[in-house]
Amino acid sequence: MKVLLLLLLAGAPPEAYLYWIQPCAKETAEQSGCEAADRELAQWALEAWQEAGEGRFTMAKAAAENKARIRIYWAAGPAGMYGETRPILVEGKPGAEVYVLPNLSQLGPEIEAAGREDRLFRHAVVYLTSLHETGHALGLNHTAAFDDIMYFFGFGGDVLEYFSRYRRKLALRADIRNHPGLSPADQARLIGKYMR
Ligand SMILES: [Zn+2]
Repeated sequence: MKVLLLLLLAGAPPEAYLYWIQPCAKETAEQSGCEAADRELAQWALEAWQEAGEGRFTMAKAAAENKARIRIYWAAGPAGMYGETRPILVEGKPGAEVYVLPNLSQLGPEIEAAGREDRLFRHAVVYLTSLHETGHALGLNHTAAFDDIMYFFGFGGDVLEYFSRYRRKLALRADIRNHPGLSPADQARLIGKYMR
């Protein structure tokens, strides 16, 4: 009886996500413009969501691509597309294939120029794109608030400034880890989604 009560109080175990991030091998780099260290940016994005979830779900590396509920790929695509997330089922549980475009030349002349002049700007775009797309993988939808990482550029606004305001917080690439890039509203929606 005591055990049962404890179980009821504890609720369901937290949702567990295994993830896999495509290595930026030579051929992938040639196709997508990824850099070897971009994997770290994608991992930081997943860790930022995990931190924001305050224990409601866990993130861990999968042993293999086909075991992962969240799979991140480096992709190339048509101009103006930053990334894409496609839902998948992994062993009966919802997951996602996440495609991130790390080549800024596909994102319009303004963003391309900013990234060419400033490596940290480039890393900021790859990080924030990974964050946005993995937000979708966790079940979050777009918002119309410019402050949010789940903001949809289709609502308009200054896209260069969207990335630049984050870039200005960084002195070093490693600073990305200290600046999750999520708004309070993003976090509130995440927590609402994983309410137990
Ligand atoms: Zn989106």
